[in-house]
Amino acid sequence: MKKEILKKIEEFDTIVIARHIGADPDALGSSLGLKDLILDNYPKKKVYTIGVYASKFKFMGKLDNIDNLDVSNALLFVLDTPNLIRIDGITNINEFKYVIKIDHHPTIDKFGDISWVEPEESSVCQMILDFAYSNNLKVKKDAAEKFFTGIVSDTGRFLYDYTTPKTYELIARLLTENKINTSDIYSKIYSRDLDEVRLQGYIEENMTVTKNGFGYIILTDEMIKKYGDDTSYPGDIVNNLNNINEVYAWAIFTYDVKNNLVKVNVRSRGPVISKVLENYGGGGHALASGARLKDDSNVKNIINDLDKVCEKYSKANE
Ligand code: AMP
Repeated sequence: MKKEILKKIEEFDTIVIARHIGADPDALGSSLGLKDLILDNYPKKKVYTIGVYASKFKFMGKLDNIDNLDVSNALLFVLDTPNLIRIDGITNINEFKYVIKIDHHPTIDKFGDISWVEPEESSVCQMILDFAYSNNLKVKKDAAEKFFTGIVSDTGRFLYDYTTPKTYELIARLLTENKINTSDIYSKIYSRDLDEVRLQGYIEENMTVTKNGFGYIILTDEMIKKYGDDTSYPGDIVNNLNNINEVYAWAIFTYDVKNNLVKVNVRSRGPVISKVLENYGGGGHALASGARLKDDSNVKNIINDLDKVCEKYSKANE
């Protein structure tokens, strides 16, 4: 598979790299890092990384505009995106000559002339780095920094289960061969606004915890406005509520009035939560999932379903 993908890169002159909406460091790191990797090894290629900017992650690099690009002879990579509807910046993948999907989410939509999907991999950055080393490609500092950022971020600083010996081996080689300022990267990923920290304090203080070990909070527009008016904060905060003895799974529901939706970010340290979110048009990983709801009509149902998943889990693990 990795050799086949390299052959396609060699075959096409124009390559477009897309990833999921609501870009995070793995989506950005893998797409921008793959662009650097291709250009460092094949400088004559034309490579475009597309999608909407996430202001928090602007430090990761510049994105391209392909509005006036003829893509009928181009190769399209879709990274870190299990379903067609969540590809940022592309409405019809069939406009491209050839499509390669690379992802570490469980499959939702089957697509791509080549589909390399490994749900056991920590991140797509890890997959692309593995692809680069397996094919003896040069990984220079620009790409290495992006892959490092994505791997660190998606593994929660090497904390989550899918951090494997392979993750450490790849990172060891990356850091041996490139002089990367890791503290600078850590501070860029993890520095937070005071408003966000205070919102986290509010959530910790006010989260409801059921007897089955499900923790949740619903953030109204009023709360969001009170703490900096930034609906991206809960997506960050949800990762920091881990390792609470009384809580197996937890969710933050956020009214996003500007985008006219209710966002839910869910995490777990045991019960599989993704199936619940899939039933409401969302999805993700077994222990990290989300959904964007068009209104609040299903909020109570999601709370009940997640509580039941926790109940089942707590009974099985008593
Ligand atoms: P988040 O809570 O937004 O950080 O998302 C956690 C995980 O769930 C990520 O792997 C996302 O790709 C996935 N996810 C979030 N929202 C959705 C959605 N609406 N549909 C499918 N997967 C999602």
